[in-house]
Amino acid sequence: MKLNFGKEVIGGIIDVIFPRHCIVCGEVIFGKYETHLCLCCQGSLPLTYFILGTQNAIEKTFWGRCNVVSAGSFFYYNAGSNYANILKELKYHGNKSIGIQMGSDYGYWLKNNSPEIQSIELIIPVPLHEKKLKTRGYNQAECVAIGLGKALNLEVSTSSLLRLANKKTQTKKNRIERLQNAEQIYSFKDLIGKVKHIALVDDVITTGATIESCILAIHKVKDIKITVLSLAYTN
Ligand SMILES: [Zn+2]
Repeated sequence: MKLNFGKEVIGGIIDVIFPRHCIVCGEVIFGKYETHLCLCCQGSLPLTYFILGTQNAIEKTFWGRCNVVSAGSFFYYNAGSNYANILKELKYHGNKSIGIQMGSDYGYWLKNNSPEIQSIELIIPVPLHEKKLKTRGYNQAECVAIGLGKALNLEVSTSSLLRLANKKTQTKKNRIERLQNAEQIYSFKDLIGKVKHIALVDDVITTGATIESCILAIHKVKDIKITVLSLAYTN
């Protein structure tokens, strides 16, 4: 107890000397509950609530394309909104900790709201090509996966699904061509044993083409239940 109190006092002193600012609204933030966003912006996060209902917008994206048992995104991404700063920080400004924190927040939200996620046994982030990984220094989807893993008490695997090629995933080709395209880009090795249900995690979902390619590559090798989770969704 004394130790926590000491930590909070030290944290408070550091906050006074080096003020931190909310990534969304820019107001000064303070204390352990305001790590990146102020409490007000946390409370106003434009949640999608997708995973609570069936046939949500993300699930519909995959109809006739690949097999997904359920899908969810934490919040809506709108390029004109200040909430877009969360993804900019994570993807372009090296702010790994915001991905971990938001992933963890989403994980606790799922734990409290979605029975769907209880059968998930392992988390796999959408991989980056090694060239991109070298340039950026980290995989932003992995940051989100780490946060989710912490909250849901699940392991994160980065060795079973790999990105082989740096070329773009195709959205307009027919099913067979899309499968060939997916196999050229992603490689799945069955290193996950008896796991029957995984969560495939990305930072943001737009057309769903990347996720589709990953799923096609996984299902080519292993018949497994896949839930898709992302921090943000935009259409
Ligand atoms: Zn704020």
